[in-house]
Amino acid sequence: MTEPTDNRSLRARAEARFHEESAREAHLSSEESQRLIHELRVHQIELELQNEELHRAQQELAIAHDRYLDLYDYAPVGYLTLSRDGRILQANLACERLFAIARKALLGHSFSHFVARDAQDHYHLFLQHLQRTHAPQTVDLRMTRADGTPFWAHLEATVQAAVTKEDMAYRMTLTDVTVVHLLQEREQRMLYTVAHDLRTPATIIKGYLSFLLELLPEEAAEQGRSIVEAERRALRRMDLIVNDLTEATYLQSGQLVIETEPVALAPYLRDLLEQLAGVLETARITVEIPTGLPAVLADPARLERIFINLLLNAQKYSAPDTPIHISAHQQGTEVVVSVRDQGQGIPAEDQPHLFELFYRAPTGRKAEGIGLGLYITSKLVEAHGGQLRVESELGKGSTFSFTLPCKPRSK
Ligand code: ADP
Repeated sequence: MTEPTDNRSLRARAEARFHEESAREAHLSSEESQRLIHELRVHQIELELQNEELHRAQQELAIAHDRYLDLYDYAPVGYLTLSRDGRILQANLACERLFAIARKALLGHSFSHFVARDAQDHYHLFLQHLQRTHAPQTVDLRMTRADGTPFWAHLEATVQAAVTKEDMAYRMTLTDVTVVHLLQEREQRMLYTVAHDLRTPATIIKGYLSFLLELLPEEAAEQGRSIVEAERRALRRMDLIVNDLTEATYLQSGQLVIETEPVALAPYLRDLLEQLAGVLETARITVEIPTGLPAVLADPARLERIFINLLLNAQKYSAPDTPIHISAHQQGTEVVVSVRDQGQGIPAEDQPHLFELFYRAPTGRKAEGIGLGLYITSKLVEAHGGQLRVESELGKGSTFSFTLPCKPRSK
């Protein structure tokens, strides 16, 4: 504490100045003394005014501080300050409600104490990331209140400016997002039930169609076969939608597991298009894969879903008989695969939303669809470590491109 020393030295300097000035004043005429007294008086008033100003500023500061405290304490979200090792240093009143514990009892507790057991790894990774990057981070965590009831919290954290590493602290806001998660879980259960309920009758119909074909008399076989084949194709399309729904439930519940292996695109696409001859208008599709293109690391079944979704869209949103072109090229350690059509194109304002769940551009609403395909395709591409992009011009056509990692060259 240096203040008393400072005060003492200020006093000593003032006394010295007073003696100096008294000595000078002893020689002053009465007119000069009058002027000096006037000066001193004005100076004194100035000081008094400054003092009043200071007092007012101090009062305003106190009011602002109280207002800030009210805002902090009565905010609808929880505010927390955590020490570097994750202990709660400060908390607002909303935290009492969120954690079902008095604020006093909360302080000093480790934040991880309230994180659900199965979310601990997730939380520690989040903190490590925050510590390493110093950039704001967000996460949704499953948590447990002091009374044992579970809840979902959305956390936003920043690193508080500090002089030393030891002083480092985190500021967090915490919002209860349990309702959102319950709705998502319900949506997932609904998707799963719909997918399951559709799959069972589809399998039965498929079986009956084969049986029907065998029962048809010889002379009716030709016509009958084409009808049954058309129905089989329709069923195959329904299968694809059911697969998309199932995949969506896996994606949303975080259960998607991909198993990658090296895939050489040229033979892979040749086989795939052969198999899909009944489902896709393969005559419209051309493929251009440069020789020497490295194999990609992909899950073959998921890669099939990516291609089917993009090719079905290209076909669906363009005029019959217009070409659809698949091409690929290497870019650094990745391969970029593109599916290009000469269809109706997509308005620029819709393009940023195409990969959202159930989004359909108004231009495409005449065609059958539910807005699931591109959402799943983008998530599947991301699960491979790649990215899906779109370039499109109204009336000219669209190109959907995705990246996949190359298989590293063996030394
Ligand atoms: P769906 O085709 O079932 O509507 P998608 O998720 O596959 O769902 O596509 C979302 C939307 O993107 C479509 O409704 C359509 O408006 C637009 N779209 C996708 N692919 C194309 C394409 N190749 N050409 C034009 N519009 C497209």
